[in-house]
Amino acid sequence: MIYADHNATSPLRPEARDAMLAAFDIGATNPSSVHTSGRAARAVVERARAQVGGAIGSRAADLIFTGGGTESDALAVQGVVDALEGRCTLIVSAIEHDAVAKSAAHSGAIVQTAYVTPAGTLDLDDLRLRMARWDKETLGTPVLCLMLANNETGIIQPVAEAASIMREAGGLTICDAVQGLGKIPVNVGLLGVDYLSVSAHKVGGPQGVGALWHRAGAPLKAILYGGGQERSLRSGTENVAGIAGFGAAAEAAVRDLPRYAALAKHRDAMESRLKAEGGVVVTGEGSPRLAGTSNFARTGFRAETQVMALDLAGVCVSAGSACSSGKVKRSVVLMAMGASDAVAESAIRTSFGWNSEPADFDGVAEAWLEAARRTVLKEKV
Ligand code: PLP
Repeated sequence: MIYADHNATSPLRPEARDAMLAAFDIGATNPSSVHTSGRAARAVVERARAQVGGAIGSRAADLIFTGGGTESDALAVQGVVDALEGRCTLIVSAIEHDAVAKSAAHSGAIVQTAYVTPAGTLDLDDLRLRMARWDKETLGTPVLCLMLANNETGIIQPVAEAASIMREAGGLTICDAVQGLGKIPVNVGLLGVDYLSVSAHKVGGPQGVGALWHRAGAPLKAILYGGGQERSLRSGTENVAGIAGFGAAAEAAVRDLPRYAALAKHRDAMESRLKAEGGVVVTGEGSPRLAGTSNFARTGFRAETQVMALDLAGVCVSAGSACSSGKVKRSVVLMAMGASDAVAESAIRTSFGWNSEPADFDGVAEAWLEAARRTVLKEKV
């Protein structure tokens, strides 16, 4: 089997598995307990906090563990709106993951859409203009929601530039870095954002664990209440083994950044072949992109058909966003970039990661061309 769906979830890294097994072996592990076992669990959680903090250039103290990327996004979005008592407007990029877009829609705050250019990156001129004309009296504090890298296209966003525009205008920036961590360097200080969310399973850690970093002093209110864990910003007994796995995975992912970056040449070779022999169009080709992500379309060859044909050939890929629970719907991201219906309906995403080999790229190209020859290309060859 060739696994080319790392942006959906990345296989568990051996380092993460080892760390999780070691955490399980502590026995009963409630980090809030004052006894020996509890203190051992606390040490595991704090070590992981330092590891994840190190991976994003933050102080461990500013990091809150959550139940995944979705929860981190929800905490950031709702947590800001509640802390500002609704006196804010969320400016949500048109390509955000639903975890951000839907949290914003349900937050009770005013929501505006920030447009992307046909190249798939945030329109900075439009943002500048909006900020220059911002009416704080009616709209409150502007809060930009901009992801670091898009899950479908891999296109990297100008987060540092956008955050600087927001800062100058007295606004805030929430950055969903779920797809950025472990694929490009992430440093909260250099990005200049106020909130940044990450997820363990996208870097080879377990599912159901995430973290939210927030700048010391940035407004944030809890969305879960209870035992007051995680500095009262995320109540609930910590998932000790999961957090341990996240820490180990984050550390390994940062160590492996050069290896990930080297995937670009294999990805580019795969795309060149698919363009030449299969007539595909590649989305975001000229934009800064994650090295292991490729989003391509062959009009007339429906995405679902491609995904099924590849699956039968032992290749795992996604159509559009894999996070929309198996439903294949026309990609909002591609539509926001101005793609035609024909492209949006036939786009698939391949995403490679920490355990991908050069042969996997050839395998995907072979399997895709074989499937295309049986369907769309048959009249051509
Ligand atoms: N944000 C982005 C950009 C994602 O790609 C995903 C998952 O695909 C999420 C958030 C949600 O993360 P999780 O699956 O950990 O809830």
